[in-house]
Amino acid sequence: MSALKSALARVDPDELIALTRELIRIPSVVRPGDPGATEAAVAAHVEEWFRQEGFDVEVQAVAPGRPNVLAMLGDRAVGPTLLLEGHTDVVTEGDPGQWSHPPFEADVVDGRIYGRGAADMKSGLAAAMIAAAALKRSGARLGGRLVVGALVDEEADMLGVKHLVQTPLGRELTAAIICEPEQNELCLEQRGVVWARVTARGRMAHGAMPEAGVNPIVALSALVREAPRLERRLRMLCARSRYLRPPTVTPTVMTAPVKGVPQSNVIPASGARRARCRCSARLPRRRGSTRPARCRHGRRSRPR
Ligand SMILES: [Zn+2]
Repeated sequence: MSALKSALARVDPDELIALTRELIRIPSVVRPGDPGATEAAVAAHVEEWFRQEGFDVEVQAVAPGRPNVLAMLGDRAVGPTLLLEGHTDVVTEGDPGQWSHPPFEADVVDGRIYGRGAADMKSGLAAAMIAAAALKRSGARLGGRLVVGALVDEEADMLGVKHLVQTPLGRELTAAIICEPEQNELCLEQRGVVWARVTARGRMAHGAMPEAGVNPIVALSALVREAPRLERRLRMLCARSRYLRPPTVTPTVMTAPVKGVPQSNVIPASGARRARCRCSARLPRRRGSTRPARCRHGRRSRPR
C-alpha cells in the first residue's frame, strides 16, 4: 500500500465529526474588552490534542489570552515545510434566538453540523488536525516537514499570521494550504489588499469666506475622482489571472472634519479618506507596458 493510501485509510470520519463538534462547543468569539472572550480555550484544546497525539507543539503568545498553536511532524532538514493553516477565532453568533439550533452545541441534523464556526472554520481546522494525525499514525516518512497552524485573529486584524511570519518557524515555511471553507472549491490564488488612509490638512474658515481657508474636502474629492484611473492603471500593470477578478480600487469612507463637530457653514481643518485596493498577488508584468491586461473572470463561481 502506498504511503498516501495508508494515511488515507487512517482518516476516521467519525473522529473528524467528533473533533469538529468539540471545537464548535468551545466558544471563541473574540469580544474586545472582555479578557474571557478570546481563542484561549479552544487553542488549549488544540494544543492538548496534538500533545496526546505525540506531535511537537509550539505555542506562540500573540497577545494576552491569544496564542497561536503549531504542531509539527517530520524534519525540515529533509525537505520543504508545508503549513496546513486554520484559525481558532469565529465571528459573533449574533442573536442566539435567531438560530434554528443553538450556536455552540454543534447539533447534527440530517448529516449537517449546526453551530458558529461549523464552516468557518472549526471543520477546516479539525480536518487539518485529523489529516496530520492520519499521516503520523500511518508511520509515513515525510520528504520534509508538515506544520498544522491554529492561528488567532483571522476575523479581525490577522494578528496570528502576522506574528507567525515573523517567527523562525514562520520564516521556514515553504508553502501553505489554507483550510478555509470555499464551497468545496480549491482556490489557487488570492488577491492581496491594501487599506489606504489619506489625510488632507486644510485651513479652517467660515463658509461665507472660503478664500480665507483651504478646503481639504476639495483635495480629497480630487483624489476620489482619480480612483478609476488608478484602477485602470493597476489593471494594465498586473498580470492577468484566470482565477481572480482584476484589481479594484474602492473608496469606502470620507470624513471631514477628522476631529470635532461638522458644521455646514464651516470649512473643516482636515479630512480623511479611506480606500480599499485589491490586487492580484502576481508581480506587475512588463514595467512600462501600456497594453491593457485582458483580465477576465476565471472559472471560479465566486471570484475574490
Ligand atoms: Zn475563516
